[in-house]
Amino acid sequence: MITIRLNNTEVLLQIENVRKAYDDVPVLNGIDLTVHRGEVVVILGPSGCGKSTLLRCLNGLEPIQGGDIMLDGKSLTGSGVDWQQTRQKIGMVFQNYDLFPHMTVIENILLGPTKVQKRDKKEALEQAVKLLDRVGLLEKKDALPRQLSGGQKQRIAIVRALCMNPEIMLFDEVTAALDPEMVREVLEVILGLAKQGMTMLIVTHEMGFAQAVADRIVFLDAGNVCEIAEPGEFFTHPKTERAQQFLNIFQYNK
Ligand code: ADP
Ligand code: MG
Repeated sequence: MITIRLNNTEVLLQIENVRKAYDDVPVLNGIDLTVHRGEVVVILGPSGCGKSTLLRCLNGLEPIQGGDIMLDGKSLTGSGVDWQQTRQKIGMVFQNYDLFPHMTVIENILLGPTKVQKRDKKEALEQAVKLLDRVGLLEKKDALPRQLSGGQKQRIAIVRALCMNPEIMLFDEVTAALDPEMVREVLEVILGLAKQGMTMLIVTHEMGFAQAVADRIVFLDAGNVCEIAEPGEFFTHPKTERAQQFLNIFQYNK
């Protein structure tokens, strides 16, 4: 998306031949994907193709049956992985903001930095305040989640993940449950992160946003990487028939 990225060839995340099945039903059939530091990769694909499962495998929420995942050169497979440590490097935001309802916004945000990372409260608070300001929600610092709109809650969920200083952010359809007028405010926050060079893996059905934010598009179909292309290329000349069909449906629904 911005030129400094193009010069950056440091591999942050390496996904190699990852296979995943639920019981005996294969869901990921040998996924290969490399994400460089500072890169924004958008994962597209029809419902049920394995997008969420792939993200969940990356932060250890799902065991895999084959292949390897390396973050910063360290394997995340096998029994010796310190997931508490590793998850701090991988920020994840889901479709349904999972803020604790009985805690204020700032308490939600500071929980990880102070309890898990054991950071200095004052230092973490300073960072939280800066991040809240950046997403335009500083005035909601002491509000409870139920006093916020869906778009606001989702921006808080993003701040909470960022306040752990992750190396990579995973977004799984974070605007899918929002009213249309709130979609934009959340996508703008993510676009801002892209501009600042955050490494991100984003699952979305917002095609305009995908095109604007992505360095590369990965099109998944039935548990396989079907196509990887730059967004300009993917949206104008998809190479595979499956990708063409997928894009036609979105054009038709516009
Ligand atoms: P996507 O996010 O692309 O819509 P998912 O990764 O959620 O797809 O699901 C991929 C496939 O795995 C689907 O067929 C889904 O039904 C199946 N699946 C997902 N989670 C589970 C689970 N916990 N148990 C069994 N099957 C699952
Ligand atoms: Mg999903």
